[in-house]
Amino acid sequence: MNTISPSADANLVPPGLAGRFVAPADSDFKKLGTIVYGGMDATPGGIVRAANVDDVVRTVNHARQHGLELAIRSGGHSNAGHSTSNGGLVLDVRDLNGIEIDADGRTAWAGAGATAMQLLDALAPHQLVVGFGDAATVGVSGITLGGGVGYLTRKLGLTIDSVLAFELVTADGETITTDATHHPDLFWALRGGGGNFGVVTRIRYRLSPLEHFTGGLLILPATAETVAAFVAAADAAPEELSTIANIMPAPPMPFLPPDMVGKLIIFGMLAYLGPDDDAQRALAPFRAIARPLADFVKPGAYHKAMFPEMPGAEDYHPLAVSLNLFMDHIGPEEGATIMGYLEESTAPMRVAQLRVMGGAAGRVAPDATAYAHRNSRIMVNLAAFYDGSAEDKAKQQRWVDDFAAALDQGDPGAYVNFIGDEGPDRVHAAYPDATWNRLRQVKRQYDPQNLFRRNHNIPPA
Ligand SMILES: Cc1cc2nc3c(=O)[nH]c(=O)nc-3n(C[C@H](O)[C@H](O)[C@H](O)COP(=O)(O)OP(=O)(O)OC[C@H]3O[C@@H](n4cnc5c(N)ncnc54)[C@H](O)[C@@H]3O)c2cc1C
Repeated sequence: MNTISPSADANLVPPGLAGRFVAPADSDFKKLGTIVYGGMDATPGGIVRAANVDDVVRTVNHARQHGLELAIRSGGHSNAGHSTSNGGLVLDVRDLNGIEIDADGRTAWAGAGATAMQLLDALAPHQLVVGFGDAATVGVSGITLGGGVGYLTRKLGLTIDSVLAFELVTADGETITTDATHHPDLFWALRGGGGNFGVVTRIRYRLSPLEHFTGGLLILPATAETVAAFVAAADAAPEELSTIANIMPAPPMPFLPPDMVGKLIIFGMLAYLGPDDDAQRALAPFRAIARPLADFVKPGAYHKAMFPEMPGAEDYHPLAVSLNLFMDHIGPEEGATIMGYLEESTAPMRVAQLRVMGGAAGRVAPDATAYAHRNSRIMVNLAAFYDGSAEDKAKQQRWVDDFAAALDQGDPGAYVNFIGDEGPDRVHAAYPDATWNRLRQVKRQYDPQNLFRRNHNIPPA
């Protein structure tokens, strides 16, 4: 149904929409326009809730013809606030969330607005899976376009390593399907190059079998030595096991002794894709690092074990600064640096998140996709919450920057999906020169006017 609020600025409304145009005066405008991170004070001129691909075409054409800034919004997890706009149009694809599964052929089409959990939930009865990240509500399109690093990365590769095809609407309003043989340069660029090349409307994934799974949360006390030992165990583990270790102060949790609150812990998420006997062998080195403070790692359904429901999460909009980098090794010395920074910080919550890469993700050639950091061993995210004031934000940002400098081991790269609004040099850091130059060529071909610029932008010129 074409529902257009009388308060809408007529110049902003794409003609002929089947979906809804949400205007600033509409009662649900704020709710529909809010994204995950707080502190992004943008007020769009309007939000298009696309009901179908035709709406996407109409919106792209309208934005191009009227010189409007166009932000694309799927799951709303952009660290940089790119899925909203000040005064421009937000094209919200959340209603394009249909899922078609070919269980025998082990493939699925997912609408660009589906969340990771919607797809995982639909796949679970078939014992099939695609690897995404650590957030249930991330949009499949946002995470996939940047690469996709998560709980199954060492076994299944990045999310992009499971992509067979994209359907998208290009800057000139054409609807195309791209895969390894159709528009192969575009297919290469979309696997890591972000939202620079068009509006993705559907993604076709290769599905992997998920017959047995063991995983969940393991909490260990954090010291320089336990942090180093965790990283060493994650590196030595069979690739069926992927881990994400958050070194952070313990929040109040019912299963932790009250005197642990505020002390540094390793909040480890461990995921083993395979039979439980093998999982137990792979997990033993982690359990031997120190007496676990909590151990919920057990056989069960992947999507339930790794993405527990968090009531109220949709109303939680953290104010945080962060920085992403790659490291080569984390021994006791680096462990001590990590502990030192986390101990001295005054932020109510701060974290060093460590993801040991390798396995299937590391076997893909760096130039096979636009995610080129295949040989970088450890992905690190440093983050601190701030209190909402510009002063505290700047202070926490300095802490994050100093922390990153102290951990710098000479890898200039960064992962595009974890970059905030950090300027063009940091976008370039996500892509080594050869990748960057090739991305720019593809950008020149598919979006020479840079219509899709509200993103980690690859400038055409
Ligand atoms: C709490 C949290 C946890 C995270 N964990 C992980 C993780 O474990 N692993 C990981 O790899 N990443 C992770 N991320 C980063 C996340 O993958 C990126 O922020 C991703 O871009 C979010 O996608 P989205 O669709 O939810 O976000 P949105 O904010 O809706 O979109 C982000 C950007 O993606 C592009 N985009 C989205 N949809 C489309 C589309 N249909 N067509 C074209 N462009 C589009 C646009 O440029 C848009 O600005 C996390 C982020 C958060 C906030």
